[in-house]
Amino acid sequence: MGFDKAEFVTSAPSLDVCPKPYYPEICFAGRSNVGKSSLINALVNHKGLARTSNRPGKTQQMNYYQVDDKMYLVDLPGFGYAKVSKKERERWGRDIRDYLLERATLRLVIHLVDIRHKPTDLDEEFFYWLGTNRLPFTVVLTKGDKLSHNKRHQSKARLKRILDEMNIEVPIIISSAEDNTGIGDIKELIYE
Ligand code: GDP
Repeated sequence: MGFDKAEFVTSAPSLDVCPKPYYPEICFAGRSNVGKSSLINALVNHKGLARTSNRPGKTQQMNYYQVDDKMYLVDLPGFGYAKVSKKERERWGRDIRDYLLERATLRLVIHLVDIRHKPTDLDEEFFYWLGTNRLPFTVVLTKGDKLSHNKRHQSKARLKRILDEMNIEVPIIISSAEDNTGIGDIKELIYE
């Protein structure tokens, strides 16, 4: 199902320097180290495309990847990285909000949460903000391989309860960049 050709396009710190809005785009959000780069690599089956490392906070810009000459995947800067100054965090927040609200070609926000952890206050605020602004989004629970089948489903149910309380109904997908769980489902959703 496509995703055959993928290449890095550019890094952009803010909306005004993003590539010309041309292809529909899908962006990936979540806290640092949640597995964004690994998920993007798994989707395009190209291990070295998005940088992955154990060092949180290394991607402080929006990284654009072009896929199959028909869409952009955009890796947003990870949020909630404690070692960055408050002022810098606020600037990122503003830049990302501008991007999410004003990018005409944005089609879907994929928000990642580590399946082992309860969504943080920042995650919850972000769900609420996306819902209030009627942005189409989906939640991917990453690193599914790290939990047993039962624990995975408990984590999904916990997330669903949180979203239900906000009256938000969006798909929740369990993924793993290790064993490719959920990768096909995420691709299908992107194609839809
Ligand atoms: P990013 O900061 O959100 O881009 O996160 P990375 O993709 O760099 O991943 C952070 C760490 O989590 C790395 O050590 C990855 O190898 C690990 N990781 C990411 N996805 C998975 C996964 O699905 N399963 C497992 N077991 N580890 C993962």
